[in-house]
Amino acid sequence: MAEKRDYYDILGVSKDASDAEVKSAYRKLAKTHHPDLNPEDKKAEAKFKEASEAYEVLSDSTKRAQYDRFGHAANQQGFGGQQGGFGGQGGFGGFEDIFESFFGGGGGFGGTSSRRRNSPQQGANLRYDIRITFEQAAFGLKRDISINRTENCDHCSGTGAKDGKEVETCPECKGAGQVNVVQQTLLGRVQTTRPCTRCHGKGKIIKVRCGFCGGTGKQQKSRTISINIPAGIATGQQIPLRGEGEAGINGGPSGDLFIRVNVSKHKFFQREGYDLHLEVPITLSQATLGVSLEVPLLKGKAKYTVPEGTQSGAILRLRSKGITHLNSTRTGDLYIHIVVEVPKKLSKKQKELLEEFEKLSGDKQYREVGKYKNIIK
Ligand SMILES: [Zn+2]
Ligand SMILES: [Zn+2]
Repeated sequence: MAEKRDYYDILGVSKDASDAEVKSAYRKLAKTHHPDLNPEDKKAEAKFKEASEAYEVLSDSTKRAQYDRFGHAANQQGFGGQQGGFGGQGGFGGFEDIFESFFGGGGGFGGTSSRRRNSPQQGANLRYDIRITFEQAAFGLKRDISINRTENCDHCSGTGAKDGKEVETCPECKGAGQVNVVQQTLLGRVQTTRPCTRCHGKGKIIKVRCGFCGGTGKQQKSRTISINIPAGIATGQQIPLRGEGEAGINGGPSGDLFIRVNVSKHKFFQREGYDLHLEVPITLSQATLGVSLEVPLLKGKAKYTVPEGTQSGAILRLRSKGITHLNSTRTGDLYIHIVVEVPKKLSKKQKELLEEFEKLSGDKQYREVGKYKNIIK
């Protein structure tokens, strides 16, 4: 497979191009290579597709940021626990909408002939931000959340017509939702497609409106949803709940709900991937003589023996006492960072004992001090 071209190069814009510049560049390319104007021209079709793909990514701030960071790889793998590439929407689901916003509704060019305005569309995705504790992220939790979303009206099943029955096929467009218009333009005869004005592109006309939703077919609902946050989740990761977003349009499927997780900091523990880090201060004598300690874990405690002669800055590892990997049974480790604290405000007696100790100490007992003996005096 040929290497994919850079999206900015395809549109001929700079990396810091504004949204308006991106849009204008795409519009120009799309008009030149539009399949309706270049029938059976494979090259033009390929260019049109390429430009559309580039636009699909660069016009969306989230996708653009991901592309800037990961390049084309961003499109090939999921991020933040979502499946199927960008935003979990499965490829270019939004493409036709972008296309329609340019070409649909009068002027210049018609919409793609394959698209019908009354075709089912997926509902919008929703996002819910949740803050959880460090421990909840480590061990997972179940929680009920309350969201407001648009759902299909119960009374008319989303049709907007009384009892869901009082509808008829639009006589103007015969249910297609759009009408074809042939226009004479500078480029010659161009067939354009416009949404049907009689049925507003729906293909159907409501004879008697549903009294509960006023004919919109939609209603706002507050819903309680049980969510299951898996152990090992980290800040910024999202849990997709398929079909829990806004209701679809024209009978399309519902959008998705994304639970975005924010994890609070811990008082003592620091997290790095699935490993934990803990600073453990010990006294000068404990470091010198060794000591048996009880160190806190995220759950419970562990006994640990600091060996004789442990230096400040030493890192000790407790295997499998970290955080369980997301969707796996593997567990990270706990790293103990030893900090030796030098005592202050010594009594006369303590000072005497330490001076006595210093006299009895030889170079062999201090590796580093011995090494620098002739340099630092
Ligand atoms: Zn119509
Ligand atoms: Zn209704």
